Amino acid sequence: MDYNALAELLFSHIDKTMADYETIYPKRELPEDAKVTRFAPSPTGFLHIGGLFAALISERIAHQSGGKFILRIEDTDKKREVENGVEKILEGLIGFGVSIDEGFVDFDSQVGDYGPYMQSQRAPIYQCFAKELVKKGMAYPCFCTEDELSATREKQEAEKLLPGYWGSFAKCRNLTFDEIKEKIDAGMPYVLRLKSCGSEDKKIAFKDGIKGKIEMPENIVDVVILKSDGIPTYHFAHVVDDYLMGTTNVIRGDEWISSIPIHLQMFYMLGLKPPKYAHIAPIMKEDEGGKRKISKRKDPEAAVTYYDEEGYPADGVIEYLLNLANYTFEDFRKANKNAHWSEFKLEMNKMSNSGGLFDLVKLNDVCKNTVASYTAEKVYDLATKWAQKYDNELYTLLTRNKDFSVAMFNFDRNPDKPRKDIGKWSEVRDAFAFMFDELFDGQYENVENVSKEDAKKMLELYKEMYDETADNSTWFNTLKDLAEKIGFAREVKEYKKNPDAFPGHVGDVSNILRVAVTGRTKSPDLCSIMKTLGKEKVIERIDKAISALGI
Ligand code: GLU
Repeated sequence: MDYNALAELLFSHIDKTMADYETIYPKRELPEDAKVTRFAPSPTGFLHIGGLFAALISERIAHQSGGKFILRIEDTDKKREVENGVEKILEGLIGFGVSIDEGFVDFDSQVGDYGPYMQSQRAPIYQCFAKELVKKGMAYPCFCTEDELSATREKQEAEKLLPGYWGSFAKCRNLTFDEIKEKIDAGMPYVLRLKSCGSEDKKIAFKDGIKGKIEMPENIVDVVILKSDGIPTYHFAHVVDDYLMGTTNVIRGDEWISSIPIHLQMFYMLGLKPPKYAHIAPIMKEDEGGKRKISKRKDPEAAVTYYDEEGYPADGVIEYLLNLANYTFEDFRKANKNAHWSEFKLEMNKMSNSGGLFDLVKLNDVCKNTVASYTAEKVYDLATKWAQKYDNELYTLLTRNKDFSVAMFNFDRNPDKPRKDIGKWSEVRDAFAFMFDELFDGQYENVENVSKEDAKKMLELYKEMYDETADNSTWFNTLKDLAEKIGFAREVKEYKKNPDAFPGHVGDVSNILRVAVTGRTKSPDLCSIMKTLGKEKVIERIDKAISALGI
């Protein structure tokens, strides 16, 4: 067979060679240990939390080594594509602060010298590489119809044989040039297949960056490399793209592990050095006592849009994912309270082999710490941004008086022991409802261990003693004075020593006042709340509480 003639017959429109593309896309000039990684999603729907996880890991591995992180869109399967698929992916990545160096950095703009970064725009490149394989006698056209292929499949199933186009099943492997030409001239559609060089009794071995050494049987199937429309299959596009883009480390979901024999074979047959591979186990969740993969269909938290809607701070979600990736992140966080997550050094070999367990309660805890580490201004900015999108009423209330809202977010935000009551912005409404009349349901309910009469006495007396300019300790001294005046203990200690001598203590006074002003028995620092609400509002609430006592 004259393979050059066959290559010309099939690819007369391709005049570039692999060497030409190697000139167009020269080797990158990067420091020796710099890693080039990529996230290569198909625009088939929302960005999955597992996708964000994989992208984050690839981004970290690239950037912590001084390398590059690429976003490549793998849109070779037009049937599965959804509208705005690229936007959805980008929105997810950018929203969570995953920074992209090359490829799609914006909805409609690509940057970088190794593009285009969308596979549907790279058809001639794949065809050039396919042509080289044909020239070497390593790929051939296959004219088998769907019916023929399914008959083969049935036979293989019945005989319990490896499914696929291989060995004696690979009928088109041995077509002559004239037979091929005749079919092409007759307008018969065909795919291009790799003429696999694998043998049934041989194994390949490779070292996975996460899973360690893996051995698998060689690929013996003549897999399709170009579909009948000239568009490559995932396998072939991966090999060509990651070679030309200079990817050093392919980090992807472990559903691709079984394709490794095909990928390594393709690199080998093209005479190219393969990248290093690392396969990430899927994120799991607990379900009915067992563990299962987070599922696109069953779990709302599978979509990254969920975290945006709920208002989890992006940094918190990323911190949590880093926690899932490396157990050492927790120690890093303890030792470096204020460091940005990007200062953590992620290690591939510390990643779990079996998949981290995703837990929304733990996520919320991590996010509480994240929010606690922010300034009140930052909380204000992020919470209003969220509310603008998802809670109009809250947005209006928060922005009505920015200073008021910032002061509110500043309650108990001291650096030593900040209060941790918000994990996500959707919790702001409830956590601070007492700060806004529109949200405050002020029906006063008396505290159990204080009589209504005493409660009334306390509230009325407080109105007289109230000095809105008092600092925190003077404010509390006033409560002590008040307690003493009505026969309650000034100090809790004093009360505990001799409980029969008093109806209660200063803590009861502050409780009554807290419930009157905030409607709850637990709140941030009451003195700050009262100062921010202002005397008029506080008196109004105290009066309402007095009348609710009904005596
Ligand atoms: N397009 C593939 C996917 O969405 C990418 C796999 C890879 O990273 O190589 O799963």
